[in-house]
Amino acid sequence: MSSRYFDHAATTPADPRVVAAVTEALSQNWGNPNSIHSIGVRARDAVERARAQLAKLLNCYPEEILFTSGATEANNWILRAFKNAAISPVEHSSVNETAKALGLEILPLNGLSATKNYDLVSVMSVNNETGELLNYKKGEERYWHCDITQQVGKLPVNLDAMDSGPDFASLSAHKFYGPKGIGALYVRGGLYPEPLLYGGGQEKHVRSGTLNVPGIVGMGVAAEIAHERQAEDYAHAVNLRETVLEALKVNDFRVNANGSPFILSLSFLGVEGESIVIDLDREGYCVSSGAACSSGSNAPSHVLLAMGIDENWIRGTIRISFGRANTEEDAWGLGLSIGKTVNRLRDLG
Ligand code: PMP
Repeated sequence: MSSRYFDHAATTPADPRVVAAVTEALSQNWGNPNSIHSIGVRARDAVERARAQLAKLLNCYPEEILFTSGATEANNWILRAFKNAAISPVEHSSVNETAKALGLEILPLNGLSATKNYDLVSVMSVNNETGELLNYKKGEERYWHCDITQQVGKLPVNLDAMDSGPDFASLSAHKFYGPKGIGALYVRGGLYPEPLLYGGGQEKHVRSGTLNVPGIVGMGVAAEIAHERQAEDYAHAVNLRETVLEALKVNDFRVNANGSPFILSLSFLGVEGESIVIDLDREGYCVSSGAACSSGSNAPSHVLLAMGIDENWIRGTIRISFGRANTEEDAWGLGLSIGKTVNRLRDLG
C-alpha cells in the first residue's frame, strides 16, 4: 500500500502525468534531439520545454541547466573539476566518497564558514539522513557547490535570486516524483566546468551523450507539478511529521534534527535501527535505517558521527520520509507501530 511508504528521501513513485509524458516521448517523440530534420527538432523542442520547466522551479535561467544522469553524476563531475576543494562532513556518499577518492579536504561541521582559499567548497542544503538545513552562506572560497537533491520540489529554491547563492548545484528527478536516472547540474552564468564525458558535444560541449529525452521530459513535467504543489506538499509533510511524533509512545528516543519537515530521523537506545525497519516492513510500513545508498553497511553513519551523536544512539536510528500519498491515518499508525516495535525489541534484548 503506497500510503504506508515512508521512504521518500530514497525515492518517490513517478506521478501518473510523468508516466504519461515519458510514455509519449518513448513512443511518439523518439527522435535524436541533435538531428536537424523535423523529427529531431520535435525532440529538441521537448527537451528545451523541459529545461524551461525545471528552470522555473529552480528560479534560474534555462541555459544554466546541464542535464546529467542524476545527482551522483553532477556531484562527481563538479568535484573532479576542482583540485583545491573541500566538503562538509555530512554530505551524501556521492560527494563524500568522491572527495575521499580525490584526496579533498573534509571540513568540520563548525568550521564551514571559516573556509579559506579553496577554489570550491561543497556544502549541501538539506541533509538526506536527518533533514537538517545547513543554511550555508558563501565564505572566502571562489565557488560554492550545493547538493540540493533533498530540497528541490520540497522547499523553495531560488538559485539566481541571491548573489550569495551557490555557483553550482546538483539534483535528481526521482526525488520529486520524476523518473530515475535523470537529473541536472546547475551552473551559474555559464561557468561550465571541464567535461566529464567527451564525445558528440551535447550540453554546451561539456556533457556528451545523446540526451535522455524521455527522462528529461518526465523531469520537466515533475518540476511543473512540484512548482504548483509545493506549498500544499510542505503543509502535508508538517502535519504527517507531527502526527508520527504525537503517536509515538516510547522512552529513550531522540529526534536528530528539526529542519525539513519531509524527513524525521529518530534514534532509540538499546535497539538496532535495522531490526526496527524489518519489523515495520512486516506491518507494511517502509522506512529506512539511514541513507538508502549506505544502509546495509555496518559502519555508523558519517553524518550522525559528524553531528556529535554517540554511537549507542546511532545504532538505533531510523529515517522516516514523507510524501504525497501518505495519509494522516497511516502516519498515526506508523507512530504507534514504532513504539510497539521498539518496546518489543527492548524486551527481547
Ligand atoms: N545527493 C543526495 C542528498 C541524495 O539524497 C541522493 C539520493 N539518495 C543523491 C545525491 C544521489 O542521487 P542519485 O542516486 O539519483 O544520483
